Amino acid sequence: MATTAVGVSATPMTEKLTAADDDQQQQKLKKGIAEFYDESSGMWENIWGEHMHHGYYNSDDVVELSDHRSAQIRMIEQALTFASVSVGVSATPMTEKLTAADDDQQQQKLKKGIAEFYDESSGMWENIWGEHMHHGYYNSDDVVELSDHRSAQIRMIEQALTFASVSDDPEKKPKTIVDVGCGIGGSSRYLARKYGAECHGITLSPVQAERANALAAAQGLADKVSFQVADALNQPFPDGKFDLVWSMESGEHMPDKLKFVSELTRVAAPGATIIIVTWCHRDLNPGEKSLRPEEEKILNKICSSFYLPAWCSTADYVKLLESLSLQDIKSADWSGNVAPFWPAVIKTALSWKGITSLLRSGWKSIRGAMVMPLMIEGFKKDVIKFSIITCKKPE
Ligand code: SAH
Repeated sequence: MATTAVGVSATPMTEKLTAADDDQQQQKLKKGIAEFYDESSGMWENIWGEHMHHGYYNSDDVVELSDHRSAQIRMIEQALTFASVSVGVSATPMTEKLTAADDDQQQQKLKKGIAEFYDESSGMWENIWGEHMHHGYYNSDDVVELSDHRSAQIRMIEQALTFASVSDDPEKKPKTIVDVGCGIGGSSRYLARKYGAECHGITLSPVQAERANALAAAQGLADKVSFQVADALNQPFPDGKFDLVWSMESGEHMPDKLKFVSELTRVAAPGATIIIVTWCHRDLNPGEKSLRPEEEKILNKICSSFYLPAWCSTADYVKLLESLSLQDIKSADWSGNVAPFWPAVIKTALSWKGITSLLRSGWKSIRGAMVMPLMIEGFKKDVIKFSIITCKKPE
C-alpha cells in the first residue's frame, strides 16, 4: 500500500477559518455567527421545532419527522444520564396563547393577515392544484396521482352533500346558496352547475373575489354566481336568504366561533341545510380542561403561518349548534379520509414548478408551505381532526 501517495486528503487548511488568531478575526467570527442564527432560526423552528441540535438515535432505522424531534429530547436526556444528573426535564408550559384573537385589534390584524395570505398565495395554488382550495376525500390511502387528487376534491364536495342529505329532487334541491369563505369560488360554481342554483360567495381576499368572478364569467356562470369581499362574521345578506349554507374549510379562520355559526344560522332560510367542513382539534377527554402543551404547540405553530385563531373541537361546534336550537345536528371525523392530501401537496410544492411558484408568490406562502409537515404530524398525533358538522334550521 502506497502510504505516501494520498489521493484524497482532507481539504487542506490553508486559512484556518476557525482559528481566531487575533481580535479582529474573533470579532468577525462572532458577527458571522450572530447573523447566521438571526437569519436561519425562524426557518429551523418552523420546520424542526425549538431544538437546534442533533437527535440521538438508538438504531439507524428510517424514522418519521416526529421521531426526529423525540430524538432531540433523547439527546438531552442521554447527556444528563451520561453526566449522572438526576432531574426531570418537562415540556415547556404554554403560557402565552399567541393565536387567540381576543380583542378587536387582534381580530383586525388576523383579518388583514388572512386577506394578504390568500391575495398572495391563491394564484400559485390555482396554478398547481386548480380552483378548489380544500382537502380531497379519499376512500383508501393508496398512492394516488395529482389528477386523482383533483377528483378527490370534487368527491369531498359530493360526500359533504350526501352526509347532509341535500336533496337532488327538483322540488327540494337548493335554489339559493351562500359559500362562506369561498376561495376562488370552486365550490360555488360546482354547486351552481349541479343544482342550477344562484350562489353568492364571500371571501376576505380581494384577489380571490376578482378571480372567482372572472372564472365564473369565463365558464358562462356570471348570471348564476357572484363573489364579493365580505366578513363571514358580519355577512352582507338579509336574514333567511339561503337554503344551503356552505362553509368549506373556512371555519378554522374564524376568531369567534359563536358569531360564525350565528351568522350562518341567521342567513339560512327556515328548513335550510348548513354544512361546515373544517379543521378542529381533537375532542377533550372527560376531566381534561385543555390539550396537552405539546399538542398546543403544534397547533400554535400552524396558526401563525396559516393565519388561524385558537382552534376548537368538533364537540364545541356541536354544542354551539345545539345552543342555537338547530336540528338534525350530525358530525363525523374524516381525518382518515383526507390523509393522502398533505403528502401530495408537499410533493407538488417540492417540484420545480412548485418551488418556483412559491418563490414568486412570496414570504407568506413560503411560511405556509413550511408548516405543511406539521399538519401531517398533527393528524398523525390525532390532535388535528378534519371534521364535518351539519344541521338544519327549523322550519
Ligand atoms: N372554501 C374555499 C376556500 C377555502 S380557503 C374552497 O374550498 O376552495 C379559506 C377561505 O376562507 C379563504 O377564501 C378566506 O378568504 C376565507 N375566509 C377566512 N376568514 C374569513 C372571514 N372572516 N370572512 C370571509 N371569508 C373568510
